[in-house]
Amino acid sequence: MSNCQTCSSAAQCGVSAHASVNQMHERTKELGVTTVFDRYQQQQPQCGFGMQGICCQLCSHGPCRITPKAPQGICGATADTIVARNLVRLESHGIAAYTHHLEEILKTIKATAQGKTPYTIGDEQKLREIAGVVGLDTTKPTNALAEELADVMLHELRKGSDEPLALVKLFAPKTRLEAWEKLGIIPGGPLSELRDAMTKTMSNIDTDPVDLLLTALRLAISTGYMGLVGTITMQDILLGTPSLTKSEADLGIIDEENVNIVAHGHVPLVATAVIKAAESKEMQELAKKAGAKGIKVYGSMCTGQELMQRSATSAKGYAGQLGNWITQEFMIATGAVDLVMMDMNCSIPGMKAVADKFHTKLVSVDRILRMAGVEDHVDYEPEKVSEQAKELIKMAIKQYKQRDKSSVVIPKGKAPAVAGFSVETILGALGGSLDPLLDAVKQGAIKGIAAVVGCTNNRNGHDSQGLTIMRELIKNDVLVIAAGCMSSASQIERLQTPEAAEEAGEGLKAVCKMLGIPPVLNFGSCVDIGRIGVAVTAIANALGVDPSQLPVVASAPEYLEQKAVADGVFAVAFGLLTHIGPVPPVTGSALVTKILTEDVESLTGGKVLVEENPVEAARKMLEHINQKRAALGI
Ligand code: SF4
Ligand code: SF4
Repeated sequence: MSNCQTCSSAAQCGVSAHASVNQMHERTKELGVTTVFDRYQQQQPQCGFGMQGICCQLCSHGPCRITPKAPQGICGATADTIVARNLVRLESHGIAAYTHHLEEILKTIKATAQGKTPYTIGDEQKLREIAGVVGLDTTKPTNALAEELADVMLHELRKGSDEPLALVKLFAPKTRLEAWEKLGIIPGGPLSELRDAMTKTMSNIDTDPVDLLLTALRLAISTGYMGLVGTITMQDILLGTPSLTKSEADLGIIDEENVNIVAHGHVPLVATAVIKAAESKEMQELAKKAGAKGIKVYGSMCTGQELMQRSATSAKGYAGQLGNWITQEFMIATGAVDLVMMDMNCSIPGMKAVADKFHTKLVSVDRILRMAGVEDHVDYEPEKVSEQAKELIKMAIKQYKQRDKSSVVIPKGKAPAVAGFSVETILGALGGSLDPLLDAVKQGAIKGIAAVVGCTNNRNGHDSQGLTIMRELIKNDVLVIAAGCMSSASQIERLQTPEAAEEAGEGLKAVCKMLGIPPVLNFGSCVDIGRIGVAVTAIANALGVDPSQLPVVASAPEYLEQKAVADGVFAVAFGLLTHIGPVPPVTGSALVTKILTEDVESLTGGKVLVEENPVEAARKMLEHINQKRAALGI
């Protein structure tokens, strides 16, 4: 049973907001294998020190825990220092992962430009546009220009912390730059910023909580413009900018007559190559010889969202989205998944025990990912990925032959979804100008925009917090943009269909019907939060105001891992009210809590809103939107 208390029916609900996951949870219980829901219960009660962020294990004097009787660690560190230091360390992990993702994309662009990969430059127009912005000669041939741009980005990634990041200067709204310059937080290259942050947060180097929080903001800006905006821009150049497309989601899309491969993680490079290779006559014939109808490549978590938004172009043939972080053990419990390709983050060790109950093979496809008991590694190499893709498909076919058809149970749930929204597709749908959208906001048909993004979390019920917030917001004429695991949550519950407009308030409903769009727009994976930053910048520029003046809010209602911490701090630095749930581990410091939830607003225009009741959270976001509207006189 979840902790969700969203409505009066809570007592009858399952652990997840999705019927398919609840059905599979019953199945895992029958199989005698534990999953995230069961282990969550085993972990109760969880440690109050960790919850409040007031435990420090940095040196061998520790662990030190702050209590009224012992208000300082052995070195003298206070709760304020320990909480702020822990927060910066969490955020640093996030930025490290983002830089890995970006580096893989840049390495691939270079190899592609040299003709060594199966990819081709997917968006030449964006390549020339960005190359022009960074000062390159755009008359050069495509591949030469792509290689040069990748080199510029690699240089940015690695430049010193005393050299301002070019992307911040080139892409941030002028008013943001002024605010950040005043605070002295214009960052340098993310790898240097990361080195500085990790050095500062060693025991007894930076013990000033206020300076540590400024470090958090600086790191977040570096993440925002390289890890988010930089990554999505370069990924678009390589794989194509998303275009409007139709797809499907939920466990019911699994087709037991096919060899079933799941792309799981965040970096869609191997998956794109596998989709392409699966279409070849050679692979299709191998699958048929094994007794299957064909080969299907499904998506899970953020890699799946990356594929879905490009399913009309570079990921044509993608078979749909199975679910998000919490769904990973339950997709395997269908007994119909032959192989899971795990790239970068969010592959939980619990998956292995479920896979062992069936024939499912787990394979790491990124050199940095390893899991106890998983012995198959096909680590991505751009120059070898065509062969690697075939190797993975052959492994899946071999597993398919071992599948016990009598143990397959596939839930019925299947939801249609529209995907591929971005600044470019929105402009396309609006006839080339943002004016119709801005007019709808000015006239109040759309009251504001909320980015409901990030992970999913079992603490308050799988996806139930996020879904309640989305439904409350659209009911009140707030257009919702989803990214990350919140994309899957809303897809499965059909909020990403034009028909979901019926759940919206009258104003938003009319706009959705006129444009034929859903009230919850799918902006893709968690790295696509950068796409939301680009969209908000475009709106702020069009209206001639700072992002902090817009009726725009952000919410990470079920934040889970460290990249989400970096994203949340970036939203605050960007000037947005940023709702976060569950309560982050900062409450052990009254000073840090006050700075994040109150004082920072006078510095960046943004602040953190902590609220675990989703209806109340939506109400507070709406209140903020209305205040911003009143201040703008609309
Ligand atoms: S750094 Fe200070 S607070 Fe942390 S474990 Fe060591 S003595 Fe304790
Ligand atoms: S949104 Fe969060 S939990 Fe979901 S896949 Fe991305 S990082 Fe993992």
